[in-house]
Amino acid sequence: MVAFAFAPPPASPEAERLRGEIREFLASELRGRSAPARAGSWGSRDPDFSRKMGARGWIGMTWPKRYGGHERTALERYVVLEEVLAAGAPMGAHWIADRQSGPLLLRFGTEEQRQAILPRIAAGECYFCIGMSEPDSGSDLAATRTRAVPVQGGFLVNGTKIWTSNAHQCHYVILFCRTEVAGTDRHAGVSQFLVDLSLPGISIRPIRDLAGEHHFNEVVFEDVFLPADTLIGELGAGWRQVTSELAYERSGPERFLSTYVLLVELVRALGSQPSERAVIAAGRLTGHIIILRRLSRSVAGMLQAGEDPALQAALVKDLGTTLEQEIPEVARLLIEPGSRPADSYDAVLAQAIMRAPSFSIRGGTREILRGIVARGLGVR
Ligand SMILES: Cc1cc2nc3c(=O)[nH]c(=O)nc-3n(C[C@H](O)[C@H](O)[C@H](O)COP(=O)(O)OP(=O)(O)OC[C@H]3O[C@@H](n4cnc5c(N)ncnc54)[C@H](O)[C@@H]3O)c2cc1C
Repeated sequence: MVAFAFAPPPASPEAERLRGEIREFLASELRGRSAPARAGSWGSRDPDFSRKMGARGWIGMTWPKRYGGHERTALERYVVLEEVLAAGAPMGAHWIADRQSGPLLLRFGTEEQRQAILPRIAAGECYFCIGMSEPDSGSDLAATRTRAVPVQGGFLVNGTKIWTSNAHQCHYVILFCRTEVAGTDRHAGVSQFLVDLSLPGISIRPIRDLAGEHHFNEVVFEDVFLPADTLIGELGAGWRQVTSELAYERSGPERFLSTYVLLVELVRALGSQPSERAVIAAGRLTGHIIILRRLSRSVAGMLQAGEDPALQAALVKDLGTTLEQEIPEVARLLIEPGSRPADSYDAVLAQAIMRAPSFSIRGGTREILRGIVARGLGVR
């Protein structure tokens, strides 16, 4: 059986120097921000905060300077990201563009697309969403039915995307759709487009989650004309492109820190004399975070070395979301809600319980990730 290797990334004194700088910035920016407000993790957004991150050079950090980037290492970027997440900063506005849409354009976009979009992303002023899932095509992405039909000067798009996070607050969507009728090779004839969400024919309708919050949407395309220059990469080669996005989407610290603020609040609420049972439980969760951080930093090192760690990323996401979901379960058992005067711990726990089910669905479900891992190990 094949085994995955997770080599430790090289030491990075520059990255550690950066840690002090970002901590100082966050301490000043988030002063007075309550624990419930910080518990939204990468789901909470504030365009002003994004612009400040951009001005500091902390968005598009690894991209070439000619596109507004800063030519820093993946490990320096990792340090910024983990500090921002651990502090509970509202980084959601720029997050998808920084994590995956920008890198996708950098790798496959035309020179015009890169020049027009990347500097705006790096400035924290241009926000993206992901147009992959459809009502009948989630895990089975190749079953996508949205069609872009070639017409004079471009393409005409019809179809419906669903669960599109923050489409109502973004400037662009990266649309994954079919450009040829599906044949025997289901992965052929699909393409990606850079789509301005203000184009005529696009309607964005809210979907509320089980907590009643509005972050994702249904996005309907009715005879939307896309000029030919909105095609990303090669016509019909969208499968290779979209799967290459997934290592970026699945390996970062956002895949194990979504309930980190709850863990901090739990330790605070346990007080200075916790029971032995509580010490063991909190220590175990902390130990898991330390190991996940090592795995995730190792993937950052592989990305930096130009490797394609898609399998390792699938493993990190599965283990990470399992931990993110376990934290509210353990917290709930250690301090029963209603057993003491309500405070920020209860509010953060309530949020986490409502949000946790989605952690192992978004970005690829647990079952799909385990299938990928099994294939990578040669057991499937
Ligand atoms: C909070 C949140 C945000 C999201 N944001 C976005 C977004 O911005 N853009 C976007 O495009 N999508 C987004 N999604 C959609 C997400 O990617 C899909 O929900 C996910 O891929 C699963 O697809 P599905 O919901 O159609 O479920 P299905 O694919 O129908 O799966 C249903 C169940 O069957 C299981 N299953 C399916 N196929 C297999 C198989 N082959 N083997 C074993 N089990 C299987 C799945 O694991 C799952 O448990 C978001 C989802 C959530 C929860």
